[in-house]
Amino acid sequence: MAEPTEASVRAEVRIWLEANFDPQLGLVEWRNKLIESGWGVPSWPKDWFGRELPMALEMVVEEEMQRIGAVGVAKTGIRRLAAATLLVHGTDDQKRRFLRRSLTGEDTWCQLFSEPGSGSDLAGATSRAEFKGNRWVINGQKVWTTSAHHADYGLLLARTNWDVPKHQGLTYFVLDIHQPGVEVRPLRQMNGHASFNQVFFTDAEVPPENLVGDIGKGWAVATTTLMHERRGADGIRTWGIASDREGRVYDEERAEIATVMEPYKWYPQRAGRVDLVIERARAAGKASDPVVRQEIAKLLCMSKPAEWTARRARAAQMQGRPQGPEGSLGKLISSHVARAAARVHTLISGADAMLSGEDSPMNGLVAEILVSVPAGSIAGGTDEIQRNIISERVLGMPKEPRTDNDRPFRDVPKNLVT
Ligand SMILES: Cc1cc2nc3c(=O)[nH]c(=O)nc-3n(C[C@H](O)[C@H](O)[C@H](O)COP(=O)(O)OP(=O)(O)OC[C@H]3O[C@@H](n4cnc5c(N)ncnc54)[C@H](O)[C@@H]3O)c2cc1C
Repeated sequence: MAEPTEASVRAEVRIWLEANFDPQLGLVEWRNKLIESGWGVPSWPKDWFGRELPMALEMVVEEEMQRIGAVGVAKTGIRRLAAATLLVHGTDDQKRRFLRRSLTGEDTWCQLFSEPGSGSDLAGATSRAEFKGNRWVINGQKVWTTSAHHADYGLLLARTNWDVPKHQGLTYFVLDIHQPGVEVRPLRQMNGHASFNQVFFTDAEVPPENLVGDIGKGWAVATTTLMHERRGADGIRTWGIASDREGRVYDEERAEIATVMEPYKWYPQRAGRVDLVIERARAAGKASDPVVRQEIAKLLCMSKPAEWTARRARAAQMQGRPQGPEGSLGKLISSHVARAAARVHTLISGADAMLSGEDSPMNGLVAEILVSVPAGSIAGGTDEIQRNIISERVLGMPKEPRTDNDRPFRDVPKNLVT
């Protein structure tokens, strides 16, 4: 069979979409059809809803879908990380049970990694999983769990062995959130949104078939999740944009964005809204102010190369080349750009940047930028942790001294009784 080309893929997907996309279909019904055809996730394996197309051709499919306004599969949020992780480490049974429903949007996910005592030091997690009878029993606490209040399942990293060094005693599970042993308590952030939660486990249960990878090998599985999370950090500006077209499929997609995607609605502001800077300078009558112009120029000189670096990383990925240093730099650059953008917004709006409400700059959006930007340099690994990764893994500099990597985790000092 001939290798697919841009022209052949474009022609084939166009014919299929024109014959099959109907805005009056229900969202899940349409997504099931799309998944069956292999056009929903064309770069995925043929056995798992894909066509094994190179990433570059996936873009062609997306362009064709946008051309006629066809709704795509559900790919945003933590479900994206769940799917990427299960594709690599999941059993066939897990892929069968979870992948399709995650793509249709019927199941939603959260990431149960960070704990009060272990965020950057994720491998120091102390939530425990013990095998009792025929189930894993989970006790402990997670925090900063985005979307846990909407989630059906959680990607859980828990300690199964306290007598080996910390990275070797962790195991990765899929946990059903809807059970009596799981309590989800929302937290409110300084930007007014409540995206995060505390999650408490009291004898929560996980069946053995929901163990992902091997017992004690959870760190390797978690690394796959984190790699995808950091790689996606520059793509958060466009999350959750609803179409204004008419039809049942769009109505149901809008409802999905208003509920499941609600925790992410401030994510574009977290990236600094560089796109608004020139418009804001004009609206505030500062477009000819030499100081403002100078600062806008500096910001664009930083954000444009960051965008090109992200594109270079994507191009390498599309050509099947291994991720180079640009992948590791992307997340760090994006938080520098966001901070610089917040400074420029403040310079333009002055003290008004702190106001919210109807008569404030952009109806409170500028204030939301200021209080949302700090999240970017914390989520998915802080700036300091990214610098450590770059210095150790990209530049090959000496490793940060550690005192806890080569002794049983039980003996490592920590703020809890084990
Ligand atoms: C928007 C957002 C969404 C999030 N969503 C989730 C989620 O869905 N699921 C989840 O599990 N977690 C989530 N988190 C949590 C996030 O992963 C952690 O906040 C992050 O890893 C940092 O951990 P911490 O908050 O415990 O800070 P700490 O680890 O306590 O760090 C405190 C400070 O010390 C510095 N530091 C720590 N260790 C080092 C070191 N070795 N070298 C130099 N400096 C160091 C850090 O850089 C930081 O400045 C989210 C966070 C945010 C902001």
